[in-house]
Amino acid sequence: MNHLLGHIGLRSTPSDYCCRSLASVLGLNVSFPGNTTYLATQESYWSLQEASLSPTCIVIPKTAQDISEAISIVSSIESCRFAIKGHSHAPAAGFANINDGVAIDMTRLSSVAVNSDHTVASVGAGASWLDVYQYLDSLGLAIAGGRNGAVGVAGLTLGGGISYFAPRVGWACDNAVNFELVLASGEIVDANATCHPELFRALKGGGNNFGIVTRIDFAAFPQGQILGGNVVNDISYRGAVFEAFAEIATAPEYDIYASLVTGLVFSTATKEWSLSTTAIYTKPVSNPPVYQNLRKIPRTADTLNITNLSTLANETAPPLLNWAFFTGTYGVSATLLSRIFDSLNTTIYNFIIPGGISWSVAFEPLPTVITQHGDQNGGNSLGTSPKDGNTFVMLLTGIWSNTSSDALVEKTAQKMVEDINGIARSMGLLNDFQYINYADPSQDPIGSYGQLNVKRLRDVSKMYDPKGVFQLQVPGGFKLWSH
Ligand SMILES: Cc1cc2nc3c(=O)[nH]c(=O)nc-3n(C[C@H](O)[C@H](O)[C@H](O)COP(=O)(O)OP(=O)(O)OC[C@H]3O[C@@H](n4cnc5c(N)ncnc54)[C@H](O)[C@@H]3O)c2cc1C
Repeated sequence: MNHLLGHIGLRSTPSDYCCRSLASVLGLNVSFPGNTTYLATQESYWSLQEASLSPTCIVIPKTAQDISEAISIVSSIESCRFAIKGHSHAPAAGFANINDGVAIDMTRLSSVAVNSDHTVASVGAGASWLDVYQYLDSLGLAIAGGRNGAVGVAGLTLGGGISYFAPRVGWACDNAVNFELVLASGEIVDANATCHPELFRALKGGGNNFGIVTRIDFAAFPQGQILGGNVVNDISYRGAVFEAFAEIATAPEYDIYASLVTGLVFSTATKEWSLSTTAIYTKPVSNPPVYQNLRKIPRTADTLNITNLSTLANETAPPLLNWAFFTGTYGVSATLLSRIFDSLNTTIYNFIIPGGISWSVAFEPLPTVITQHGDQNGGNSLGTSPKDGNTFVMLLTGIWSNTSSDALVEKTAQKMVEDINGIARSMGLLNDFQYINYADPSQDPIGSYGQLNVKRLRDVSKMYDPKGVFQLQVPGGFKLWSH
């Protein structure tokens, strides 16, 4: 133990005291700058903004009990601030890392198991989706989760979670049947449709506001191979691609096996746009009718092939760069997609920063076949409903290297989204919903869930965390008490 305490030296800030207290109980589960485990966690952050923060110590628990002990300590020291880290794909600074505080790295809680009749998969909250799919593929099973395997299970699910299976089973969170979590008091509880049902609903969309989730049990279903890959078109065909997207996303009988993302990427280095659609069919059908119009458009590549989920999810990680995510939700219209492209192009084309920047925009259908699952298993907090009709979620992303340009990128992206919202509003297609997992800190996704959901979330927070440990001591993420 002494070698751990030695790292504290003679400095004594509140976070030093907090780390010293944690180390005295959790021993080697607490690491300090210079330790290899500390470095490994720091190197695992997805964005440069997050990797640039330096926690005073990092707790790497192995069990829910370890977390319970850690929370009992940190919640008893009011000045102790902490961050909860899964697989760190939320890019904004401070969402899962912290300066002058404690980072709790959940990634050792990564077990995956299924019950005897293969209807429920129990997943450690620190698992990645690749951990899950590799295990479940071998059993001919799946659960609704992230499309990129490197993303974390808890982070994605606590925000909703868009999966390839969404048109069949709803948001990923709609498929959670139980959350095990550690409350601010240190108590370990299960939240499900019959036990702590308000907390259960709050967790489905409420982010890191209620506790540290240690395990999620998901409804599992039989799943074989699927069709997946990209259809790439020259940017000059965007109008036809937007038409094909809109046709699929508004079909009166939406094909629930179809899941697609149409994405455009602009590089300031080449001043060129590229256009591709990730088209998935969650059945082993090589040429499903739903994609036939899309595939009739002249293509520069078409990689659709029959594969499995873990192969598709196993994407190569990009280099460490600054990332900004912004989001909006809109009624589906090919004309709107074209106008979004034109609006972005106007700003982006002449936006220059040292080292360059790459922008991308992705369009993801949110049809009523997805939102109709919002009431299942005790309901969710997202406020998305079939009443809103067939919408799509936009993810606008900026990726750049030069940190001194962060504020300028942020301001520019904000303006781009305001412009897009203005266009959508003028066409009667602006929807209030902001998907929390794609939202920038300047946006208000929790407010977008609607008054009733916000009130319920606040009430649950006051009931389970009356001192506001997850509001005041966990500064990262979208908070409730400010609403
Ligand atoms: C490359 C990439 C691909 C993506 N693909 C998808 C996709 O297919 N579908 C989709 O819906 N979203 C997707 N996202 C968005 C993703 O859902 C969010 O970024 C999500 O928050 C990431 O979770 P994480 O554990 O990886 O991240 P982290 O940054 O570690 O965590 C995100 C938030 O969740 C909190 N949190 C994490 N674990 C816990 C826990 N155990 N208990 C309490 N709070 C916790 C953290 O405090 C943090 O605020 C993608 C993002 C990226 C960068």
